[in-house]
Amino acid sequence: MIPYGKQTIDEADILAVIETLKSDWLTQGPKVIEFEKKLAEYCGVKYAVVVNNGTAALHLAYFVAGLKSDDEIILSPLTFAATANAALWQGAKPVFVDVNPKTGNIDPKLIEEKITNKTRVITPVDYTGRPADLDTIKAIAEKYNLIVVEDACQAFGASYKNKKVGSISDLTVFSFHPVKTITTGEGGAVLTDNENYYKKMKMFVTHGMTKQNFVNESEGEWYMEMQMLGMNYRLTDIQCTLGLSQLKKADYFVRSRRIIAEFYNDVFKDFKNIFLPTPDSFVEQSSWHLYVIRLAEKLVNSRAEIFKKLRAKGIGVQVHHLPVYYHPYYQDLKYRKGICPVAENFYDKAISLPIYPSLSKDEQQFVIKQILDIVH
Ligand SMILES: *Cc1c(COP(=O)(O)O)cnc(C)c1O
Repeated sequence: MIPYGKQTIDEADILAVIETLKSDWLTQGPKVIEFEKKLAEYCGVKYAVVVNNGTAALHLAYFVAGLKSDDEIILSPLTFAATANAALWQGAKPVFVDVNPKTGNIDPKLIEEKITNKTRVITPVDYTGRPADLDTIKAIAEKYNLIVVEDACQAFGASYKNKKVGSISDLTVFSFHPVKTITTGEGGAVLTDNENYYKKMKMFVTHGMTKQNFVNESEGEWYMEMQMLGMNYRLTDIQCTLGLSQLKKADYFVRSRRIIAEFYNDVFKDFKNIFLPTPDSFVEQSSWHLYVIRLAEKLVNSRAEIFKKLRAKGIGVQVHHLPVYYHPYYQDLKYRKGICPVAENFYDKAISLPIYPSLSKDEQQFVIKQILDIVH
């Protein structure tokens, strides 16, 4: 099966990890510090805090943004459930806003009407790796004194107006799961320019404990103080070593993905049975985490059949994403189908095709041939 996405691990990655396994530090050693520094540099931002996965990164970002019980958070439903779940863990209420039919990203024109005096956070999701309309969203957030927590789990290496994603919103969240741009096995990070957020996050990821700036008098050399209720969200040195090695190849990974996307876009451009993803523009350059085609309206009812045929041919197509509120858990919270019709229609037509750096030209040709044969 050709999967829709997968990691690219080379000999240098493996050797680097072996070195760390032989070292004194398996976790909380020099590699964590180095990976955080290099991530921040890569994105052009002051601080990065690495954590054990993207979901923990979302939770951490919502926590420092001050999202709490009975607050509301605005986000689009066309995302992985974790974007909303992490807000539920803070006791907040997800308020879903519909998407732009071209990109699948939150439609900024629909945000203001959903803002109430309970709204605290706006979370644009960079769907498929394409940056959301970040400046417009930032302006809305400033007008209403809200915090932007960007879910860029799919968008590591993407750019917006010549700036790397990670350097634009108040807090930006990444995932380093194997299907994402770079991987640490499991892993994630939160990036910010805000020193207060940074200090709070560093404390949170290690139980809210600190070895400096004590509230009480130190009891001795061993003394550590817990100053807030935190978690163990730490990423290991083993994983950070892999991350550091992967980071060197991030631009190459994104470029390889872009070349595949441009090839698909070019081959399919006259094929009337599908809509193609928006190509890169001067303003936004996607990381091309996903290549999502959408079926023409007349084929909507055949999607399951088309999907099955493609899988039978050995193409590991996938659908991203089930609108979050379709999940039974959210239905129990009284979210109803129909609240975001554009996202729902987007979902009905979507199929993710294989895209990842090591996808060979032959495999791309094979995927294309099957699409042309099967989709009508
Ligand atoms: C992958 C992903 C996550 C979750 O990241 P994990 O590292 O798997 O926890 C959250 N949001 C989006 C949009 C994602 O693509």
